Amino acid sequence: MSEKSKNEEVEFSFKCPTCKKGKIKITKTTYDVPDGDKMLLIKFECDVCEFSNNDVIPLTTNNTPGIMTLRVSNEKDLKSKIYRSPVGRLEIPELELFVEPGPNADFYYTNVEGILFRFENAVSIYRKNLDDDDVQIEEIDKILQDLQKASKGEFKFTLIITDSGGGSYIIPTDESKYSFEKFENKELN
Ligand SMILES: [Zn+2]
Repeated sequence: MSEKSKNEEVEFSFKCPTCKKGKIKITKTTYDVPDGDKMLLIKFECDVCEFSNNDVIPLTTNNTPGIMTLRVSNEKDLKSKIYRSPVGRLEIPELELFVEPGPNADFYYTNVEGILFRFENAVSIYRKNLDDDDVQIEEIDKILQDLQKASKGEFKFTLIITDSGGGSYIIPTDESKYSFEKFENKELN
């Protein structure tokens, strides 16, 4: 995390749901995202076994419409947190993949890995429904290959969220890979 995050650690005595022996430590981190908004990251960790879990909650609503860009080039970048609001369009141009705005697209809180996994699932299902001699198969297989490389941090790509209403977030692992471009008034209707 950066110097902009503030840690507050609280230890609880409830037992680990996995090993039933360890105690769960809860770390709460308030993270200031660009534009002065705040996110609360909550991490649960067992002091005995490997159990851990994360959650992220927006503390304020980002109402600044704009374009969020994250450059992903290694495994660390894959852990960057993503929140796509229902009005946000998510896109990976290098893979020709996108999620159009809409309440039914299930890309909410996740990380970059989670997004690649869901894309891989969707493309695989699409591939299965094609005839063996379909002209698209070659292209689809290339995308699947690139997606697999991407999920190991071996394929560089850009993740873009265009949000005309505000509310979407990217919390980068490496802030130097992230940029936010505010929409000017003239670009809005
Ligand atoms: Zn445990």
